[in-house]
Amino acid sequence: MQTPSFIFSVDVEDWFHSENLPVTYHDWPNLESRVTRNTEKLLSILDKYQIKGTFFILGWVAQRERNLVLEIKARGHEIACHGFNHQLVYRLSESEFKDDTKKAKDLLEDITGGKILGYRASNFSITDRAIDILRELGFGYDSSLCPVFYHDRYGKLNNYQIDPNADVIQLHPGFWEVTIPVWQIGKYSLPWGGGGYFRLLPYPLYKIGIKSIVKKRPSFLFYIHPREIDPGQPYFAQIPWMGRFRHYVGLKQAETRLNHLCKDYKFQPIKEKLGIMQV
Ligand SMILES: [Zn+2]
Repeated sequence: MQTPSFIFSVDVEDWFHSENLPVTYHDWPNLESRVTRNTEKLLSILDKYQIKGTFFILGWVAQRERNLVLEIKARGHEIACHGFNHQLVYRLSESEFKDDTKKAKDLLEDITGGKILGYRASNFSITDRAIDILRELGFGYDSSLCPVFYHDRYGKLNNYQIDPNADVIQLHPGFWEVTIPVWQIGKYSLPWGGGGYFRLLPYPLYKIGIKSIVKKRPSFLFYIHPREIDPGQPYFAQIPWMGRFRHYVGLKQAETRLNHLCKDYKFQPIKEKLGIMQV
């Protein structure tokens, strides 16, 4: 087997865009924005280790923080699209999904002057029909599929043969699915690309998971949100334990851990892995 490759990705959204918190779209404009500060912290860490990644930026954020989008691009990272209003894709009608995605793609292309090729669905909530619409809108890849057996929020693709150990799947000519890695332990499949497991479990154990994953698939994809290295964000105590786990666990140690990860692996952006150019 060839030497594995490692992909770094960021979902650029604010702390209050998380599905785990009891806030709605209408509350967002009145909440304290921390996304620029947190993303700049992330950018500094990546610069320190000379890592370039793919940044899936939420349109709602890009509209308010145009300079942040330009700074991410200026530092050499790939700009990609995380939709506009962070809705779960399977809850939207086809036309709602198309409008939301097109609005975000057009905005990012207007800000950067480049073509946006990559898309990631909010909470990995991808569907078959969304793939068709992404192709219609001119995307070159989606990176939203996490092939776990069960998760209450993740989406699914039923129209395609998905090998759980495939990292990059060509769904159509010129269109790829870049999957989120899963660590298979017996009958359990753990979404290992980032989130609570990365922040909570001992780092050596997280690395054992990565090692095991790249024995079976050619690459490992990591994802993080700027809020995950922000232990000072507002705290909501009244949310169910699963939401608290997903949102708050390990926030204090995540930044140190991220430094270790960036030191230990030579990460690259998705476009480089796919060998496609963002013009
Ligand atoms: Zn998101």
